[in-house]
Amino acid sequence: MSNKSDVEIAQEADMLPIDQIANKIGIERHALELYGDYKAKVDVHKMEDAEPQTHGKLILVTAMTPTPAGEGKTTIVAGLGDALQKIGKKTAIALREPSLGPVFGMKGGAAGGGYAQVVPMEDINLHFTGDFHAIGAANNLLAAMVDNHIHHGNELNIDPRKIAWKRTVDMNDRQLRSIVNGLNGKANGVPREDGFQITVASEIMAIFCLSNDIDELKEKLKNIIIGYTYDDQPVTAGELHAQGAMAALLKDAMKPNFVQTLEHTPAFVHGGPFANIAHGCNSVAATKLALTSADYVVTEAGFGADLGAEKFMGIKARSTDIKPSASVVVATIRALKMHGGVSKNQLTGENLDALEKGLPNLLKHLENMQNVFGLPTLVAINKFPTDTDAELQLIVDRCKELGVNVVHSDVWANGGAGGEAFAKEVVHLADQDNQSTYAYDLNDPITGKIKKLVQNVYGGKGIELTPAAKKEIDRLESVGFGHLPVCMAKTQYSFSDDQTKTGRPTDFDITIRGVSVSAGAGFIVVLTGTILTMPGLPKRPSAEKIDINEEGNITGLS
Ligand code: ADP
Ligand code: MG
Repeated sequence: MSNKSDVEIAQEADMLPIDQIANKIGIERHALELYGDYKAKVDVHKMEDAEPQTHGKLILVTAMTPTPAGEGKTTIVAGLGDALQKIGKKTAIALREPSLGPVFGMKGGAAGGGYAQVVPMEDINLHFTGDFHAIGAANNLLAAMVDNHIHHGNELNIDPRKIAWKRTVDMNDRQLRSIVNGLNGKANGVPREDGFQITVASEIMAIFCLSNDIDELKEKLKNIIIGYTYDDQPVTAGELHAQGAMAALLKDAMKPNFVQTLEHTPAFVHGGPFANIAHGCNSVAATKLALTSADYVVTEAGFGADLGAEKFMGIKARSTDIKPSASVVVATIRALKMHGGVSKNQLTGENLDALEKGLPNLLKHLENMQNVFGLPTLVAINKFPTDTDAELQLIVDRCKELGVNVVHSDVWANGGAGGEAFAKEVVHLADQDNQSTYAYDLNDPITGKIKKLVQNVYGGKGIELTPAAKKEIDRLESVGFGHLPVCMAKTQYSFSDDQTKTGRPTDFDITIRGVSVSAGAGFIVVLTGTILTMPGLPKRPSAEKIDINEEGNITGLS
């Protein structure tokens, strides 16, 4: 067990030159574009076999409904990757790039924790190879072209009140959520109401993550609907001739980033949509590259399995040939207690009663992974220093009584060595036959898809549509978007759309506040409850603790 902070452990890492790591999975030096000694981008066009077959087994790491601190999925991905490597498997991991929003906000970094991390941790957490800025620039180029078009006479007849395209920045900045711009007279644009989203919620991020190559990227960018005309006809980025320049801005960003874990396991870290307000998975390009290079690939989908894993299956897996062989549901004693009714600041003392009461939340996620998505699944209990033996044993006993496959993970404290039994179990699971399935059919009507998710995945009763949402659903179906999958924007803290309903709530309805089409990304965004696509900073943001000294050493990142 360690008293060191994540960044201190990461700074002590003995990293190997990145070409040596790439070599482990057959990626040669000439396919790497180096960003210093320990980071690279991979140019698949320069690989021996430019169209290799994916052959690796994919392990999808997901979780029970989390506490605000996160339950350790990224930590488990890094540690399980190290453990698989330790038992002799040719392994790679595939993660999302962290967003600056949570790094400076409440949750902190997203490079893992303890002795299970990807490194260089500070670089990965602090704008890394610049991909998110490139995505933001591509997004804002389109925004600039929209307003410029209106300024210069508005040939396309765009109604400034119906522009759906927002500007983006990778920061939690509530001040920019709703703004008025174009002020100060005729020379300075056309005044209108506008707003910002965080970059990780933008459609460009989704398109970036779902495109296999530049051609597909351009095609998807072209199909983006930026808004509607005065007579309600959609206007696309293609009509503004924006897709070429946007794709050019994304040229380097599109190449998967390559780094290593603390124990030198190859790691792809690429793309980063949030899972509560976007689709929550790393890029298809990186996942595919990992699956062509390694025999076992461990990946993460964001937040609880109701969000990230559902979208992994419903959006990412459905639109590609990427199918998980097994899934791991991460659980913690602290989250179980929280779902058992204990308040957030009292989660550390032993409390067997609360633990038992919280168990239904975990079991519902497990049921979903096994029965709704058809994946061989095990529960990994992410051990924390504050967990007691009695607590850990109770979970194992209860899970075993219910026939649930459960392991302890000690990778946070001990790296790969803390996950060997876990890794063996995962290999066993991934070897089983499986027939993965989806929670809804693309041919279901839009409300039918949402209802199936609410009833079968969230365990609720039904949906309530605001009149605006109902009208928009009818319109989207009438213009031919009814066949798209849905991307639910919902709180990560509850199966329901009300974050105070912890545990396994039943008998609830989900309120659909709005829907919109991401015609480029190929899904329909469904806004539920009060979820926002531009977060704010908390009263005491993590940014207050982060510092750097004259030597360039960074402190306060976790
Ligand atoms: P997730 O990916 O599920 O959001 P992370 O892996 O990012 O979660 O972990 C969230 C935070 O919790 C990190 O700061 C990490 O260091 C910490 N953490 C994870 N696992 C443990 C553990 N077993 N013991 C103590 N802290 C942990
Ligand atoms: Mg994570």
